[in-house]
Amino acid sequence: FKKLSARLAKSREAFTYQLDSLFLGKKEIDTNLLDDLEELLIMADLGVSTTDEILEFARRKAKRKELSDPAALKEAIKTKIASFIEEAQEDAELVMPESGPFIIMVIGVNGVGKTTTIGKIAKKFVNSGNSVMLVAADTFRAAAVSQLKIWGERNEVPVFSRQEGADPSSVAYDAIAKAVAEEYDVVLIDTAGRLHTQTNLMEELKKIKRVIGKNCAGAPHEIMLVIDATTGQNGISQAKLFNDAVGITGITLTKLDGTAKGGIVANISRELDTPIRFIGIGEQIDDLRDFDHNEFIEALFQ
Ligand code: GDP
Repeated sequence: FKKLSARLAKSREAFTYQLDSLFLGKKEIDTNLLDDLEELLIMADLGVSTTDEILEFARRKAKRKELSDPAALKEAIKTKIASFIEEAQEDAELVMPESGPFIIMVIGVNGVGKTTTIGKIAKKFVNSGNSVMLVAADTFRAAAVSQLKIWGERNEVPVFSRQEGADPSSVAYDAIAKAVAEEYDVVLIDTAGRLHTQTNLMEELKKIKRVIGKNCAGAPHEIMLVIDATTGQNGISQAKLFNDAVGITGITLTKLDGTAKGGIVANISRELDTPIRFIGIGEQIDDLRDFDHNEFIEALFQ
């Protein structure tokens, strides 16, 4: 908890401390206070609709004199934010299938931290005694394959790859066949994340998803989208794009250590209605946490 709390320091400074000082010494809830509050919530990347809802809630409370003093309003806002996160996070834990390999397809835009996250998740599964295979289905960039191989070496797990430019879905198809035949417990598939080229990434991802199911019924069991917390609203627009194409079942939110915009967690929870499985709080192999909303809220509002 201490480490999580330390890594969320930027968000806490920009949000919780500001929230505190906004209300400090205030005697009543007036329009000025509500305006300042609105600005703060937007800056923290809570998103427009979440911010609107919180303001509406604050105005209602103030009007009904249910909250006569700003300190009580502040507490109510914290509770409200916590409840947004909680609602979306009911089944955040990954559940492995009863038989056959647990197949996780990892998607997201280049640079968000996909490969790093795969390396970190692999470590978790290795630590709990599972055999793990990594699959390099981003055949577009040679660097992507070599980077994944580095994570394979760190975890001492095999990386399934083909030559640069190979058809990504055939790589996935062959890898799954091997994983099923050799009874691997967990397969993590890295995919391409180029958004700004002619070749259609979404069609490529759809095809990968389809062929995985051919070699292993019910798979992929998880389509995990990696979002970079520092990109704010952009990350949410990206998520909608990916969701429309392949349907995401879980989210990993990376780089929460490097951002003051921790409020994005509430925004993602509300807008995407998909559980956040993990959060990335640093570049090292151990800097991945299971997302526990209670722990997160406590660390943020500490
Ligand atoms: P990919 O292109 O999506 O596969 O992204 P990479 O895995 O190559 O990561 C891009 C950069 O983000 C690298 O420098 C990583 O070390 C860094 N990174 C990934 N996750 C985190 C995180 O949780 N915190 C921080 N601070 N950096 C991260």
